[in-house]
Amino acid sequence: MQKLGDSPIHADVLICILRALPTFEALFATIRVSKALYTAYNHHRNEVLNAVAFNHVGPALPLALQLARHNEHTPTEDYMMVLSSDESLNYWDFQVTIEDICHLVNHANVVAEWEDLYSFRKKDIRRKTSQLTVLQSWRFQKALYRLMLYSRLFPADKTAYAITKNGSVSVTTMLERECLLRKEFLSDCFNNELNQLREVTYFVMEIIKWVDNVDSSDMIASNKEFMDIALSVGPATILECFQNLGFEPLTETINRLCSDTTPEFFEDDTSRPLLSGYLLDFISSVIQARDADSSQHIPIPILDIGPSMQELYPRCSQCSSSSPFHLWGETTWDYLSLSSQVLGTYLFPSLTTFLKGELRNNPVEVKHVEALLVKTPFKEIYQDIHTKNLKLSQWHDRSDDYWICSRCLTNFMKDHLHLWVIMKRKEANDQIANDCWYGYNCRTQVHKLGHAQQLNHLCEPTR
Ligand SMILES: [Zn+2]
Ligand SMILES: [Zn+2]
Repeated sequence: MQKLGDSPIHADVLICILRALPTFEALFATIRVSKALYTAYNHHRNEVLNAVAFNHVGPALPLALQLARHNEHTPTEDYMMVLSSDESLNYWDFQVTIEDICHLVNHANVVAEWEDLYSFRKKDIRRKTSQLTVLQSWRFQKALYRLMLYSRLFPADKTAYAITKNGSVSVTTMLERECLLRKEFLSDCFNNELNQLREVTYFVMEIIKWVDNVDSSDMIASNKEFMDIALSVGPATILECFQNLGFEPLTETINRLCSDTTPEFFEDDTSRPLLSGYLLDFISSVIQARDADSSQHIPIPILDIGPSMQELYPRCSQCSSSSPFHLWGETTWDYLSLSSQVLGTYLFPSLTTFLKGELRNNPVEVKHVEALLVKTPFKEIYQDIHTKNLKLSQWHDRSDDYWICSRCLTNFMKDHLHLWVIMKRKEANDQIANDCWYGYNCRTQVHKLGHAQQLNHLCEPTR
């Protein structure tokens, strides 16, 4: 009997197996399994590395390689020269090397996480992993890799982050050179690709706004160039901000890029000319500079979702309204209300305003209720109402595919919050005063402290 790997047919089969492996991790585990596999790999290393890289990264591999091979110590101008020179044909022969792998994998992970988020927010809120078709995914990934590369290359001079109140001459020369380079970089893209890059940029901006809300730092409101600065640190850092619910990773990155920045960096509103209009302005100007025919063509969006797909979007289970990406449900709860315990009530900054009737103006109750709400994430209150028999019959039961819009959720909370508070009090064995006849509608509770203290108003009016 022949030993495995001895005949050419064996070798072919082994190569086929190696080429089909989905990740580099799987490849390096597999070649350790037997000497035959290792030998086959060694003889066809280039071919196997390229195949696995394609399986792992996907059709955006050429761009992924450009990003992987960008060294942050190489000046932008030199790098762009390599990209555009004739010799680049050799340099970019797209042969994946061992040195590329670590970068390729790290970037591919970032891109995959962004794609999951994009799909969840733009295509299918029922699922948190990407539901993009192969073509949609390819468009998205190309755009994201380009954004990553752009934010590596620009601003070419990282001192652009520092706030200089003098030296305007050097800034002007820097600015002219920088504009040319940016346009040159973007000129390599077709109009469709530029429009898709713009779409992805808007999406990243949406996430930056989300972090700004969560962080409650109001960075966007306090610094008009904040959005541009944030875009310029690149999607990987923004993703970290999203995961950390705050802008610390962004601040750290800027400090690493340009050590001259001060702690008050974001409070200083002095213009940073190389950052303002960071990418979007340049996309527009490149499209406009092309001939009229091409700038008037109707761009193909990343998601070419037809009307049939839109019918599959969920609707509010209570009022049937359709605002698919602002519906609260199993998968969207944390995104819309935040998973954090402390910030859990963010979207409803003061839940006490949801108290029924005159209760929200009852100083005694508001104080008690606020103390209780601070300790309880909003999601828990909502779940208690459903699971602890508090729900009024006019509200539908939760089914598997239950969604609720913000307006209905607001009304739902108004209908139930006082019932929940009373239940909490009973659970804690608190003494509950006698009910006031006028219940939550009582007007005396607002201006007579004694009355508010003596009677319970968290109840239905009986007259
Ligand atoms: Zn609704
Ligand atoms: Zn009363």
